[in-house]
Amino acid sequence: MNIAIIAAAGAGTRMASDRPKQFLLLAGTPLIIHTLRVFEQCESIDEVIVVLPAAESAGFLSLAAKYGLRKVSRVVPGGVTRADSVKRGLLAIRAATAEIVAVHDGVRPFVTVEEIDAVVTAARTDGAAILVAPVTDTIKQVRDGHVMQSLDRGELRRALTPQCFRYDVLRQAYQATDVSDPSVTDESVLVEKLGISVSIIEGSARNIKITTVEDLVMAEAILKVSTDYADYTEF
Ligand code: C5P
Repeated sequence: MNIAIIAAAGAGTRMASDRPKQFLLLAGTPLIIHTLRVFEQCESIDEVIVVLPAAESAGFLSLAAKYGLRKVSRVVPGGVTRADSVKRGLLAIRAATAEIVAVHDGVRPFVTVEEIDAVVTAARTDGAAILVAPVTDTIKQVRDGHVMQSLDRGELRRALTPQCFRYDVLRQAYQATDVSDPSVTDESVLVEKLGISVSIIEGSARNIKITTVEDLVMAEAILKVSTDYADYTEF
């Protein structure tokens, strides 16, 4: 059994809206529903656990049913940090049947079925795999207002989601983790600390994380041109 944990318990403070950003409407449908629809179509995913703000949890299963999302099996109230939320989702998984766990940000609706399937397949063989995208800017390491060094961008990638792991690997990673540590911004960093190698799958730059009003405008634009857009790997 492969399970997706959709982390969607953020408060959305960067969006300056009274509703968490994962519930804002994108082409008339809540953002989180767009994301869940992609997982619904994935053959490699059997079950979906959605982690939501406590205030949004009640009633979400019926909203999911209304949109025909049959894989959403549980709704779990989130924590103070993203790591805290993911850990709560992880604790809701039945250990006896769990094989691969795919962790995904609820505010990344443009991930594709093919990308999710590819990361799950890599995690099955390697134990840990993440989706990444190229870095198009030159990245500088800085300190005290000065450039310390320029990094070779050919060797750099942006870490996206999903990030997929064998269940036992992710459980071990979270067992040793202080979920209030602000440096824990993804699951990969925890697994790397265990000394386990994390494979990469090259994904599309369109898999953006919608965290600001500008991102929402960009998302509307991506949706609008989505048919032509399939021909491009970057924008
Ligand atoms: O805020 P950040 O960029 O880390 O958010 C990434 C994802 O993690 C979002 O989908 C957000 O809803 C989720 N999150 C969460 N619990 C939190 C904070 C963020 O599930 N306490």
